[in-house]
This record gives sequence, C-alpha cells and structure tokens, in this order.
Amino acid sequence: MPNCIFCKIVRGEIPAHKVYEDDTYLAFLDIHPKAPGHTQVIPKAHTRWVWDVPDVGGYFEIARTIALAQRKAFGTEWILSRIIGDEVAHAHIWVYPSTEDSAQLMEFEKNAEKLRAALQ
Ligand SMILES: [Zn+2]
Repeated sequence: MPNCIFCKIVRGEIPAHKVYEDDTYLAFLDIHPKAPGHTQVIPKAHTRWVWDVPDVGGYFEIARTIALAQRKAFGTEWILSRIIGDEVAHAHIWVYPSTEDSAQLMEFEKNAEKLRAALQ
C-alpha cells in the first residue's frame, strides 16, 4: 500500500529502530513507547488485520521470540501484548515489557541494541 506508514518502514522509506527482520516479518520499536523496548511486530506484506495474516502461527512465533528477548533485555518475566488494529491499518502486534522503569523509555538506539543482543 503506497501510503501505509508500516509499508513505508518495510520499504526503508521511513527510518525505524529495527530489532528483528526475516523474509516475512519485521519488528521495530514503537515511536510512542508504553515501556522501554516497546516493539511492533508486523508482516512485511500489507495485511489489514492480524487475523488475516496467512501463516498466523508463524507470525505469533515471531511475537513470542520478541517477548522472550524482552524478558532478557529488560529484566522482567511479565511481557504484555495487545492487538487492536485501529492506529495503523496494517496488521501489528504490540509487545512490551511491564516495567515502571521509564528512565530508558525514549532511549531508542540503546533499547534496540539491548533487544538485538538478546535475540542473538
Ligand atoms: Zn501496510
């Protein structure tokens, strides 16, 4: 979709702090984070709803991979996720640690690096 902001991130037309990428999925930090390391997990192919992603099981495996990395990177077992679908009309799963620590909230590069390291 030409004007979809998430498609633009996939095509590299808008910068994002990417933490995970494969042929089908992309995960990047939300620019309005609820917590340090708040990540959006999306299919690269434009899909309106999470429930219409062809391999939704594989999609959720990526969301889990991000959640497990967030546990390591941000020192909490409690990882939240949300699927709403009204902010951007491109399927996305919110994944973010439950933490009161807002000191690192806007340290995008540092948080992305922590997550990428935890994904190794
Ligand atoms: Zn899109």
